[in-house]
Amino acid sequence: MVDYGIKLWSNDDFIIDDGVVKVNYKVKPALIDIVREAREKGYKGPLLLRFPHLIENQITKIYEAFHAAIREYQYQGCFKAVFPLKVNQMPNFVLPLVELSNDKCYGLEAGSKSELIVAMAYTNKGSPITVNGFKDKEMISLGFIAANMGHDITLTIEGLNELKTIIEIASEMAEPYPNIGLRIRLHSVGTGIWAKSGGITSKFGLTSTELLEAMKILEHSKLLHKFTMIHFHIGSQISDISPLKKAIREVGNIYAELRKMGAKNLTAVNIGGGLAVEYAQHESMNCKNYTLAEFSGDVVFSLKEIAKNKNELEPDIFIESGRFISASHAVLVAPVLELFSQEYEESALKLKEDSNPPLVEELNDLYNSITEKNAIEYLHDSLDHMESLLTLFDLGYIDLQDRSNTEVLVHLIIKKVIKLLKYKNHNEILKIQKSVQERYLLNCSFFQSLPDYWGLEQNFPVMPLDRLNRRPTRAASLWDITCDSDGEISFNPQMPLFLHDVDVSKEEYFLGFFLVGAYQEVLGMRHNLFTHPTEFSIIFDDELNKGYEIANLLEAQTIVDVLDDLDYDTKEIERILKQHIEDSDLDVETKKAVLGKLYVMLSENGYLRTISPQGVI
Ligand SMILES: *Cc1c(COP(=O)(O)O)cnc(C)c1O
Repeated sequence: MVDYGIKLWSNDDFIIDDGVVKVNYKVKPALIDIVREAREKGYKGPLLLRFPHLIENQITKIYEAFHAAIREYQYQGCFKAVFPLKVNQMPNFVLPLVELSNDKCYGLEAGSKSELIVAMAYTNKGSPITVNGFKDKEMISLGFIAANMGHDITLTIEGLNELKTIIEIASEMAEPYPNIGLRIRLHSVGTGIWAKSGGITSKFGLTSTELLEAMKILEHSKLLHKFTMIHFHIGSQISDISPLKKAIREVGNIYAELRKMGAKNLTAVNIGGGLAVEYAQHESMNCKNYTLAEFSGDVVFSLKEIAKNKNELEPDIFIESGRFISASHAVLVAPVLELFSQEYEESALKLKEDSNPPLVEELNDLYNSITEKNAIEYLHDSLDHMESLLTLFDLGYIDLQDRSNTEVLVHLIIKKVIKLLKYKNHNEILKIQKSVQERYLLNCSFFQSLPDYWGLEQNFPVMPLDRLNRRPTRAASLWDITCDSDGEISFNPQMPLFLHDVDVSKEEYFLGFFLVGAYQEVLGMRHNLFTHPTEFSIIFDDELNKGYEIANLLEAQTIVDVLDDLDYDTKEIERILKQHIEDSDLDVETKKAVLGKLYVMLSENGYLRTISPQGVI
């Protein structure tokens, strides 16, 4: 049975049971039931489901892994972590994260003034805040204000001028001051599509020459005692652990050298983010070559070795993992609106009485005489015939009805072949998948909900939410509803996706995209002016009847809200539209009715609502 590689990517957070995908927690609800419940409440279109227990789960995993390594190696330093807000700043993610980690000394990392404000408001007191990225005087002052408020904040310096600004502000503001971190420009680099943050050509960090200069400046301005941390980040989604090990050795030696030069309060090494998520749905397509235990073990072991060799204190270890913490908590659910070949039913076939072109007659014969034995041969023949017939059409030898009959017959043959070979000869079908693929139209926007697929070709695990005890037979390509040809996840024979042959005018079919909780939401763009999906959290509570509830509902924006965000004068738009209706030749009653309809639409979101005759999708 096809399991969509769930064992590879889900870490048992989701399981297949009884033909449906279930959340593997407490009462183990089926995703399809959660989706139906939301839709009964009227929320149609794409849905984003958040699972706060999975946020807690990931935080716990990281802490346990590092604590285990610390115990194993009898490491003297302690372990602390922050969540980098750039990976997910949405309140329905950040607030549960802060609440669920208040026993762990788990803080927030900010890379901009707005993120710093969020961190200052929500970081649990006593938990760390780190600030990275380029900073102006105002942002550094904000860091001082955070320290004044009692936050344990470290400003990581990206360049010497930032250090000079800190000194300037220190002379203007009261203590307590923030701690100072120095970001190091390593020569080690990560691998993979995000490996741009490391290396000597990196956008960030101080070279060794600048580090020496920074030490001098700090000493001279009597702020050396505030220098507590060194930091690096070699890029996101580190696929191979060896560059990380190299980076740790490099940074560990820099740490020891700086301490020897007099940085006595330098006690922390911040290893940034980069811990990878396994997105692969297919064996041999793995995104990473290490486990969390190996990662934490390597970090602790390397730092211990260096401290021992250089006879220095074992540093506290900070980590800023974002993707690893947030990816699993969100699932995008998209209703399938249409299968493109569904219109190719036998009833659509309109063969002529006696003047069909010979090749069409032949296609018809193939269709009627196809058997399990000749299926593949006939399929090849029919694809050849189709090519010839389309050429004949271009040359003007056959008419539109002939062309339509050709398309219908070829699709009927494909469907029949797939049916006949359901359990046998699957490999043969695999070879011709590309030509027999079915296109599934999804009610969502990849630009809005999976921007990294569009921008970086990052694949996210995708699977139907039900029918999992039925073999999926159609090689699938996925289309979103933007009118952009990039809004397509095409069929890839290296990582084939098979879906079920469903008649969506009679039955519902939903696809879930998993691991979409990192980076996708804020990066998501309003191409074609599609808004974010309606989102909600699933909160588990044994006290509740069902064992869980749908909470924190945030509806997709209405059309008016989207236009308003673009700074259109929506009152003016409404006025103009109303005027156009007023000026039309319609009678008074009709004008009223049309206007009424228009207003309803303006107050809904822009995703598709009705497609099938049955009504709302
Ligand atoms: C982006 C970023 C992170 C988070 O990286 P992940 O790969 O999501 O863990 C951590 N630290 C810094 C400085 C970053 O820029």
